[in-house]
Order: sequence, then structure tokens, then C-alpha cells
Amino acid sequence: MTILVVEDEIKISRFIKKGLEMEHYTVEIAYDGQDGYEMAELNSYDLIILDIMLPKMSGIEMCRKLRLAKVDTPVIMLTARDTIEDRVKGLDAGADDYLTKPFAFGELVARIRALLRREKTVKTTELQIDDLKLNPATHEVYRNNKEIQLSSKEYRLLDYMMRRPGYVCTRTMIGEHIWGYNFKDDSNVIDVYISYLRKKIDQGFRNKLIHTIRDVGYKIKDKTVKKVVKK
Ligand code: CA
Repeated sequence: MTILVVEDEIKISRFIKKGLEMEHYTVEIAYDGQDGYEMAELNSYDLIILDIMLPKMSGIEMCRKLRLAKVDTPVIMLTARDTIEDRVKGLDAGADDYLTKPFAFGELVARIRALLRREKTVKTTELQIDDLKLNPATHEVYRNNKEIQLSSKEYRLLDYMMRRPGYVCTRTMIGEHIWGYNFKDDSNVIDVYISYLRKKIDQGFRNKLIHTIRDVGYKIKDKTVKKVVKK
């Protein structure tokens, strides 16, 4: 397991490196956001510990750029202040977890373990909605036990939506996730891909799984899920 630490305060980065090495992780350090970004894009680290306040490029910007470049390495962000605003900014930029400075080393290690464990599960657990199944390990998709062939964009779109069952995926979310930088919100490319997916996944089935949320986006949902009615 190799971890990239991006932290300009030498005392802190050395402290983290030393501690993690004692836990048998391999650690590399970057001292600014630009170096950190290049290292993270070039190498496949198992995890990144990312400070927010960094020279050349902030941790928020670095994380956002990485996600746009399709680097999905889990990120733990280090924030100096424990404000909701900072946390939201970090999570919006694509961070998976955050830790407020100063932190206890034991807590950092616990977060790392939890994240690596989750990552392993997320990457291998089969997703299922009604009789639609997607296997992230083999990239196979089945509906009613019949295999469905998807293009790589269709697959990524379905994978993205199936990880958020019942939640609206806005056009911006979908666009940035699948098309990244070049995505233009006014194009109808998302609708086109949704219609491809519908043809392959919903056509011929009574229970339609892909739902349109007018003017907002789409969601994937099993209609047969019972709603809890409040009295
Ligand atoms: Ca810093």
C-alpha cells in the first residue's frame, strides 16, 4: 500500500510519513499542490492525504482536477478549521473523508483503514436494482439474468447512477463525472446516452428503472420499493 502525502509543513508531513511507515505503508511526499497533482496523476497510489492550504495549487483545486482527470484514488483532506463550509468544499471537490488539524495519529490511521476497506468493497460488490445487476469487477451487466452489452460511456453512466439509487443525478453531476472538462451543460449528449441506456435496460420491461426528473436530471429507482407513509 502506497500513500501520497501532500503537505507543505515539513514537520507535519515528516510526522505522518514516519508514523505511517511504522504501520507498514509506503509513503511519498509532495510539498505543493502542483507536484502533488503530477505525482497523483502519474502513479497509482492507494490513498492520498491532502492538505487544503498548499502553495501553487490548493488541496481543493488539486482534488477537483484529479477527479476531472478520472483519478479516483481515495482522498482524506486535512482542514485547518473545522467549519462546515470547509468540509462541504472538500467533499464537493471529490474528497472521501476529512480530518481537522491538529489530529491524533491514531485517528488518521483509523480513517485510512476504513477508507481502504470501503474502497475494496465498492470496487467489487455487485450493484443491484430490481433484476438489474452490475458487476464492477467484471463490468458485466444483466437484466433478468440476460447479459446486456454496453459501450464504455453507457457503462460508466449506469454505474454512476446505480451507486445513487433513488437519488437524482443532475445533468451537471452526470456531465462532469462522465465527460469531465469538456462538458457543456447546454448539449443534449446526456439525454442521448440516457435514451441508449433505456433502450438496452428498460425496453420490453414493465418495471422501468430509469426515471426523468424534469429540468433537473435522472434517477434510477426500483418502483416496487414500498414508500413509508407517515400518519
Ligand atoms: Ca499547509
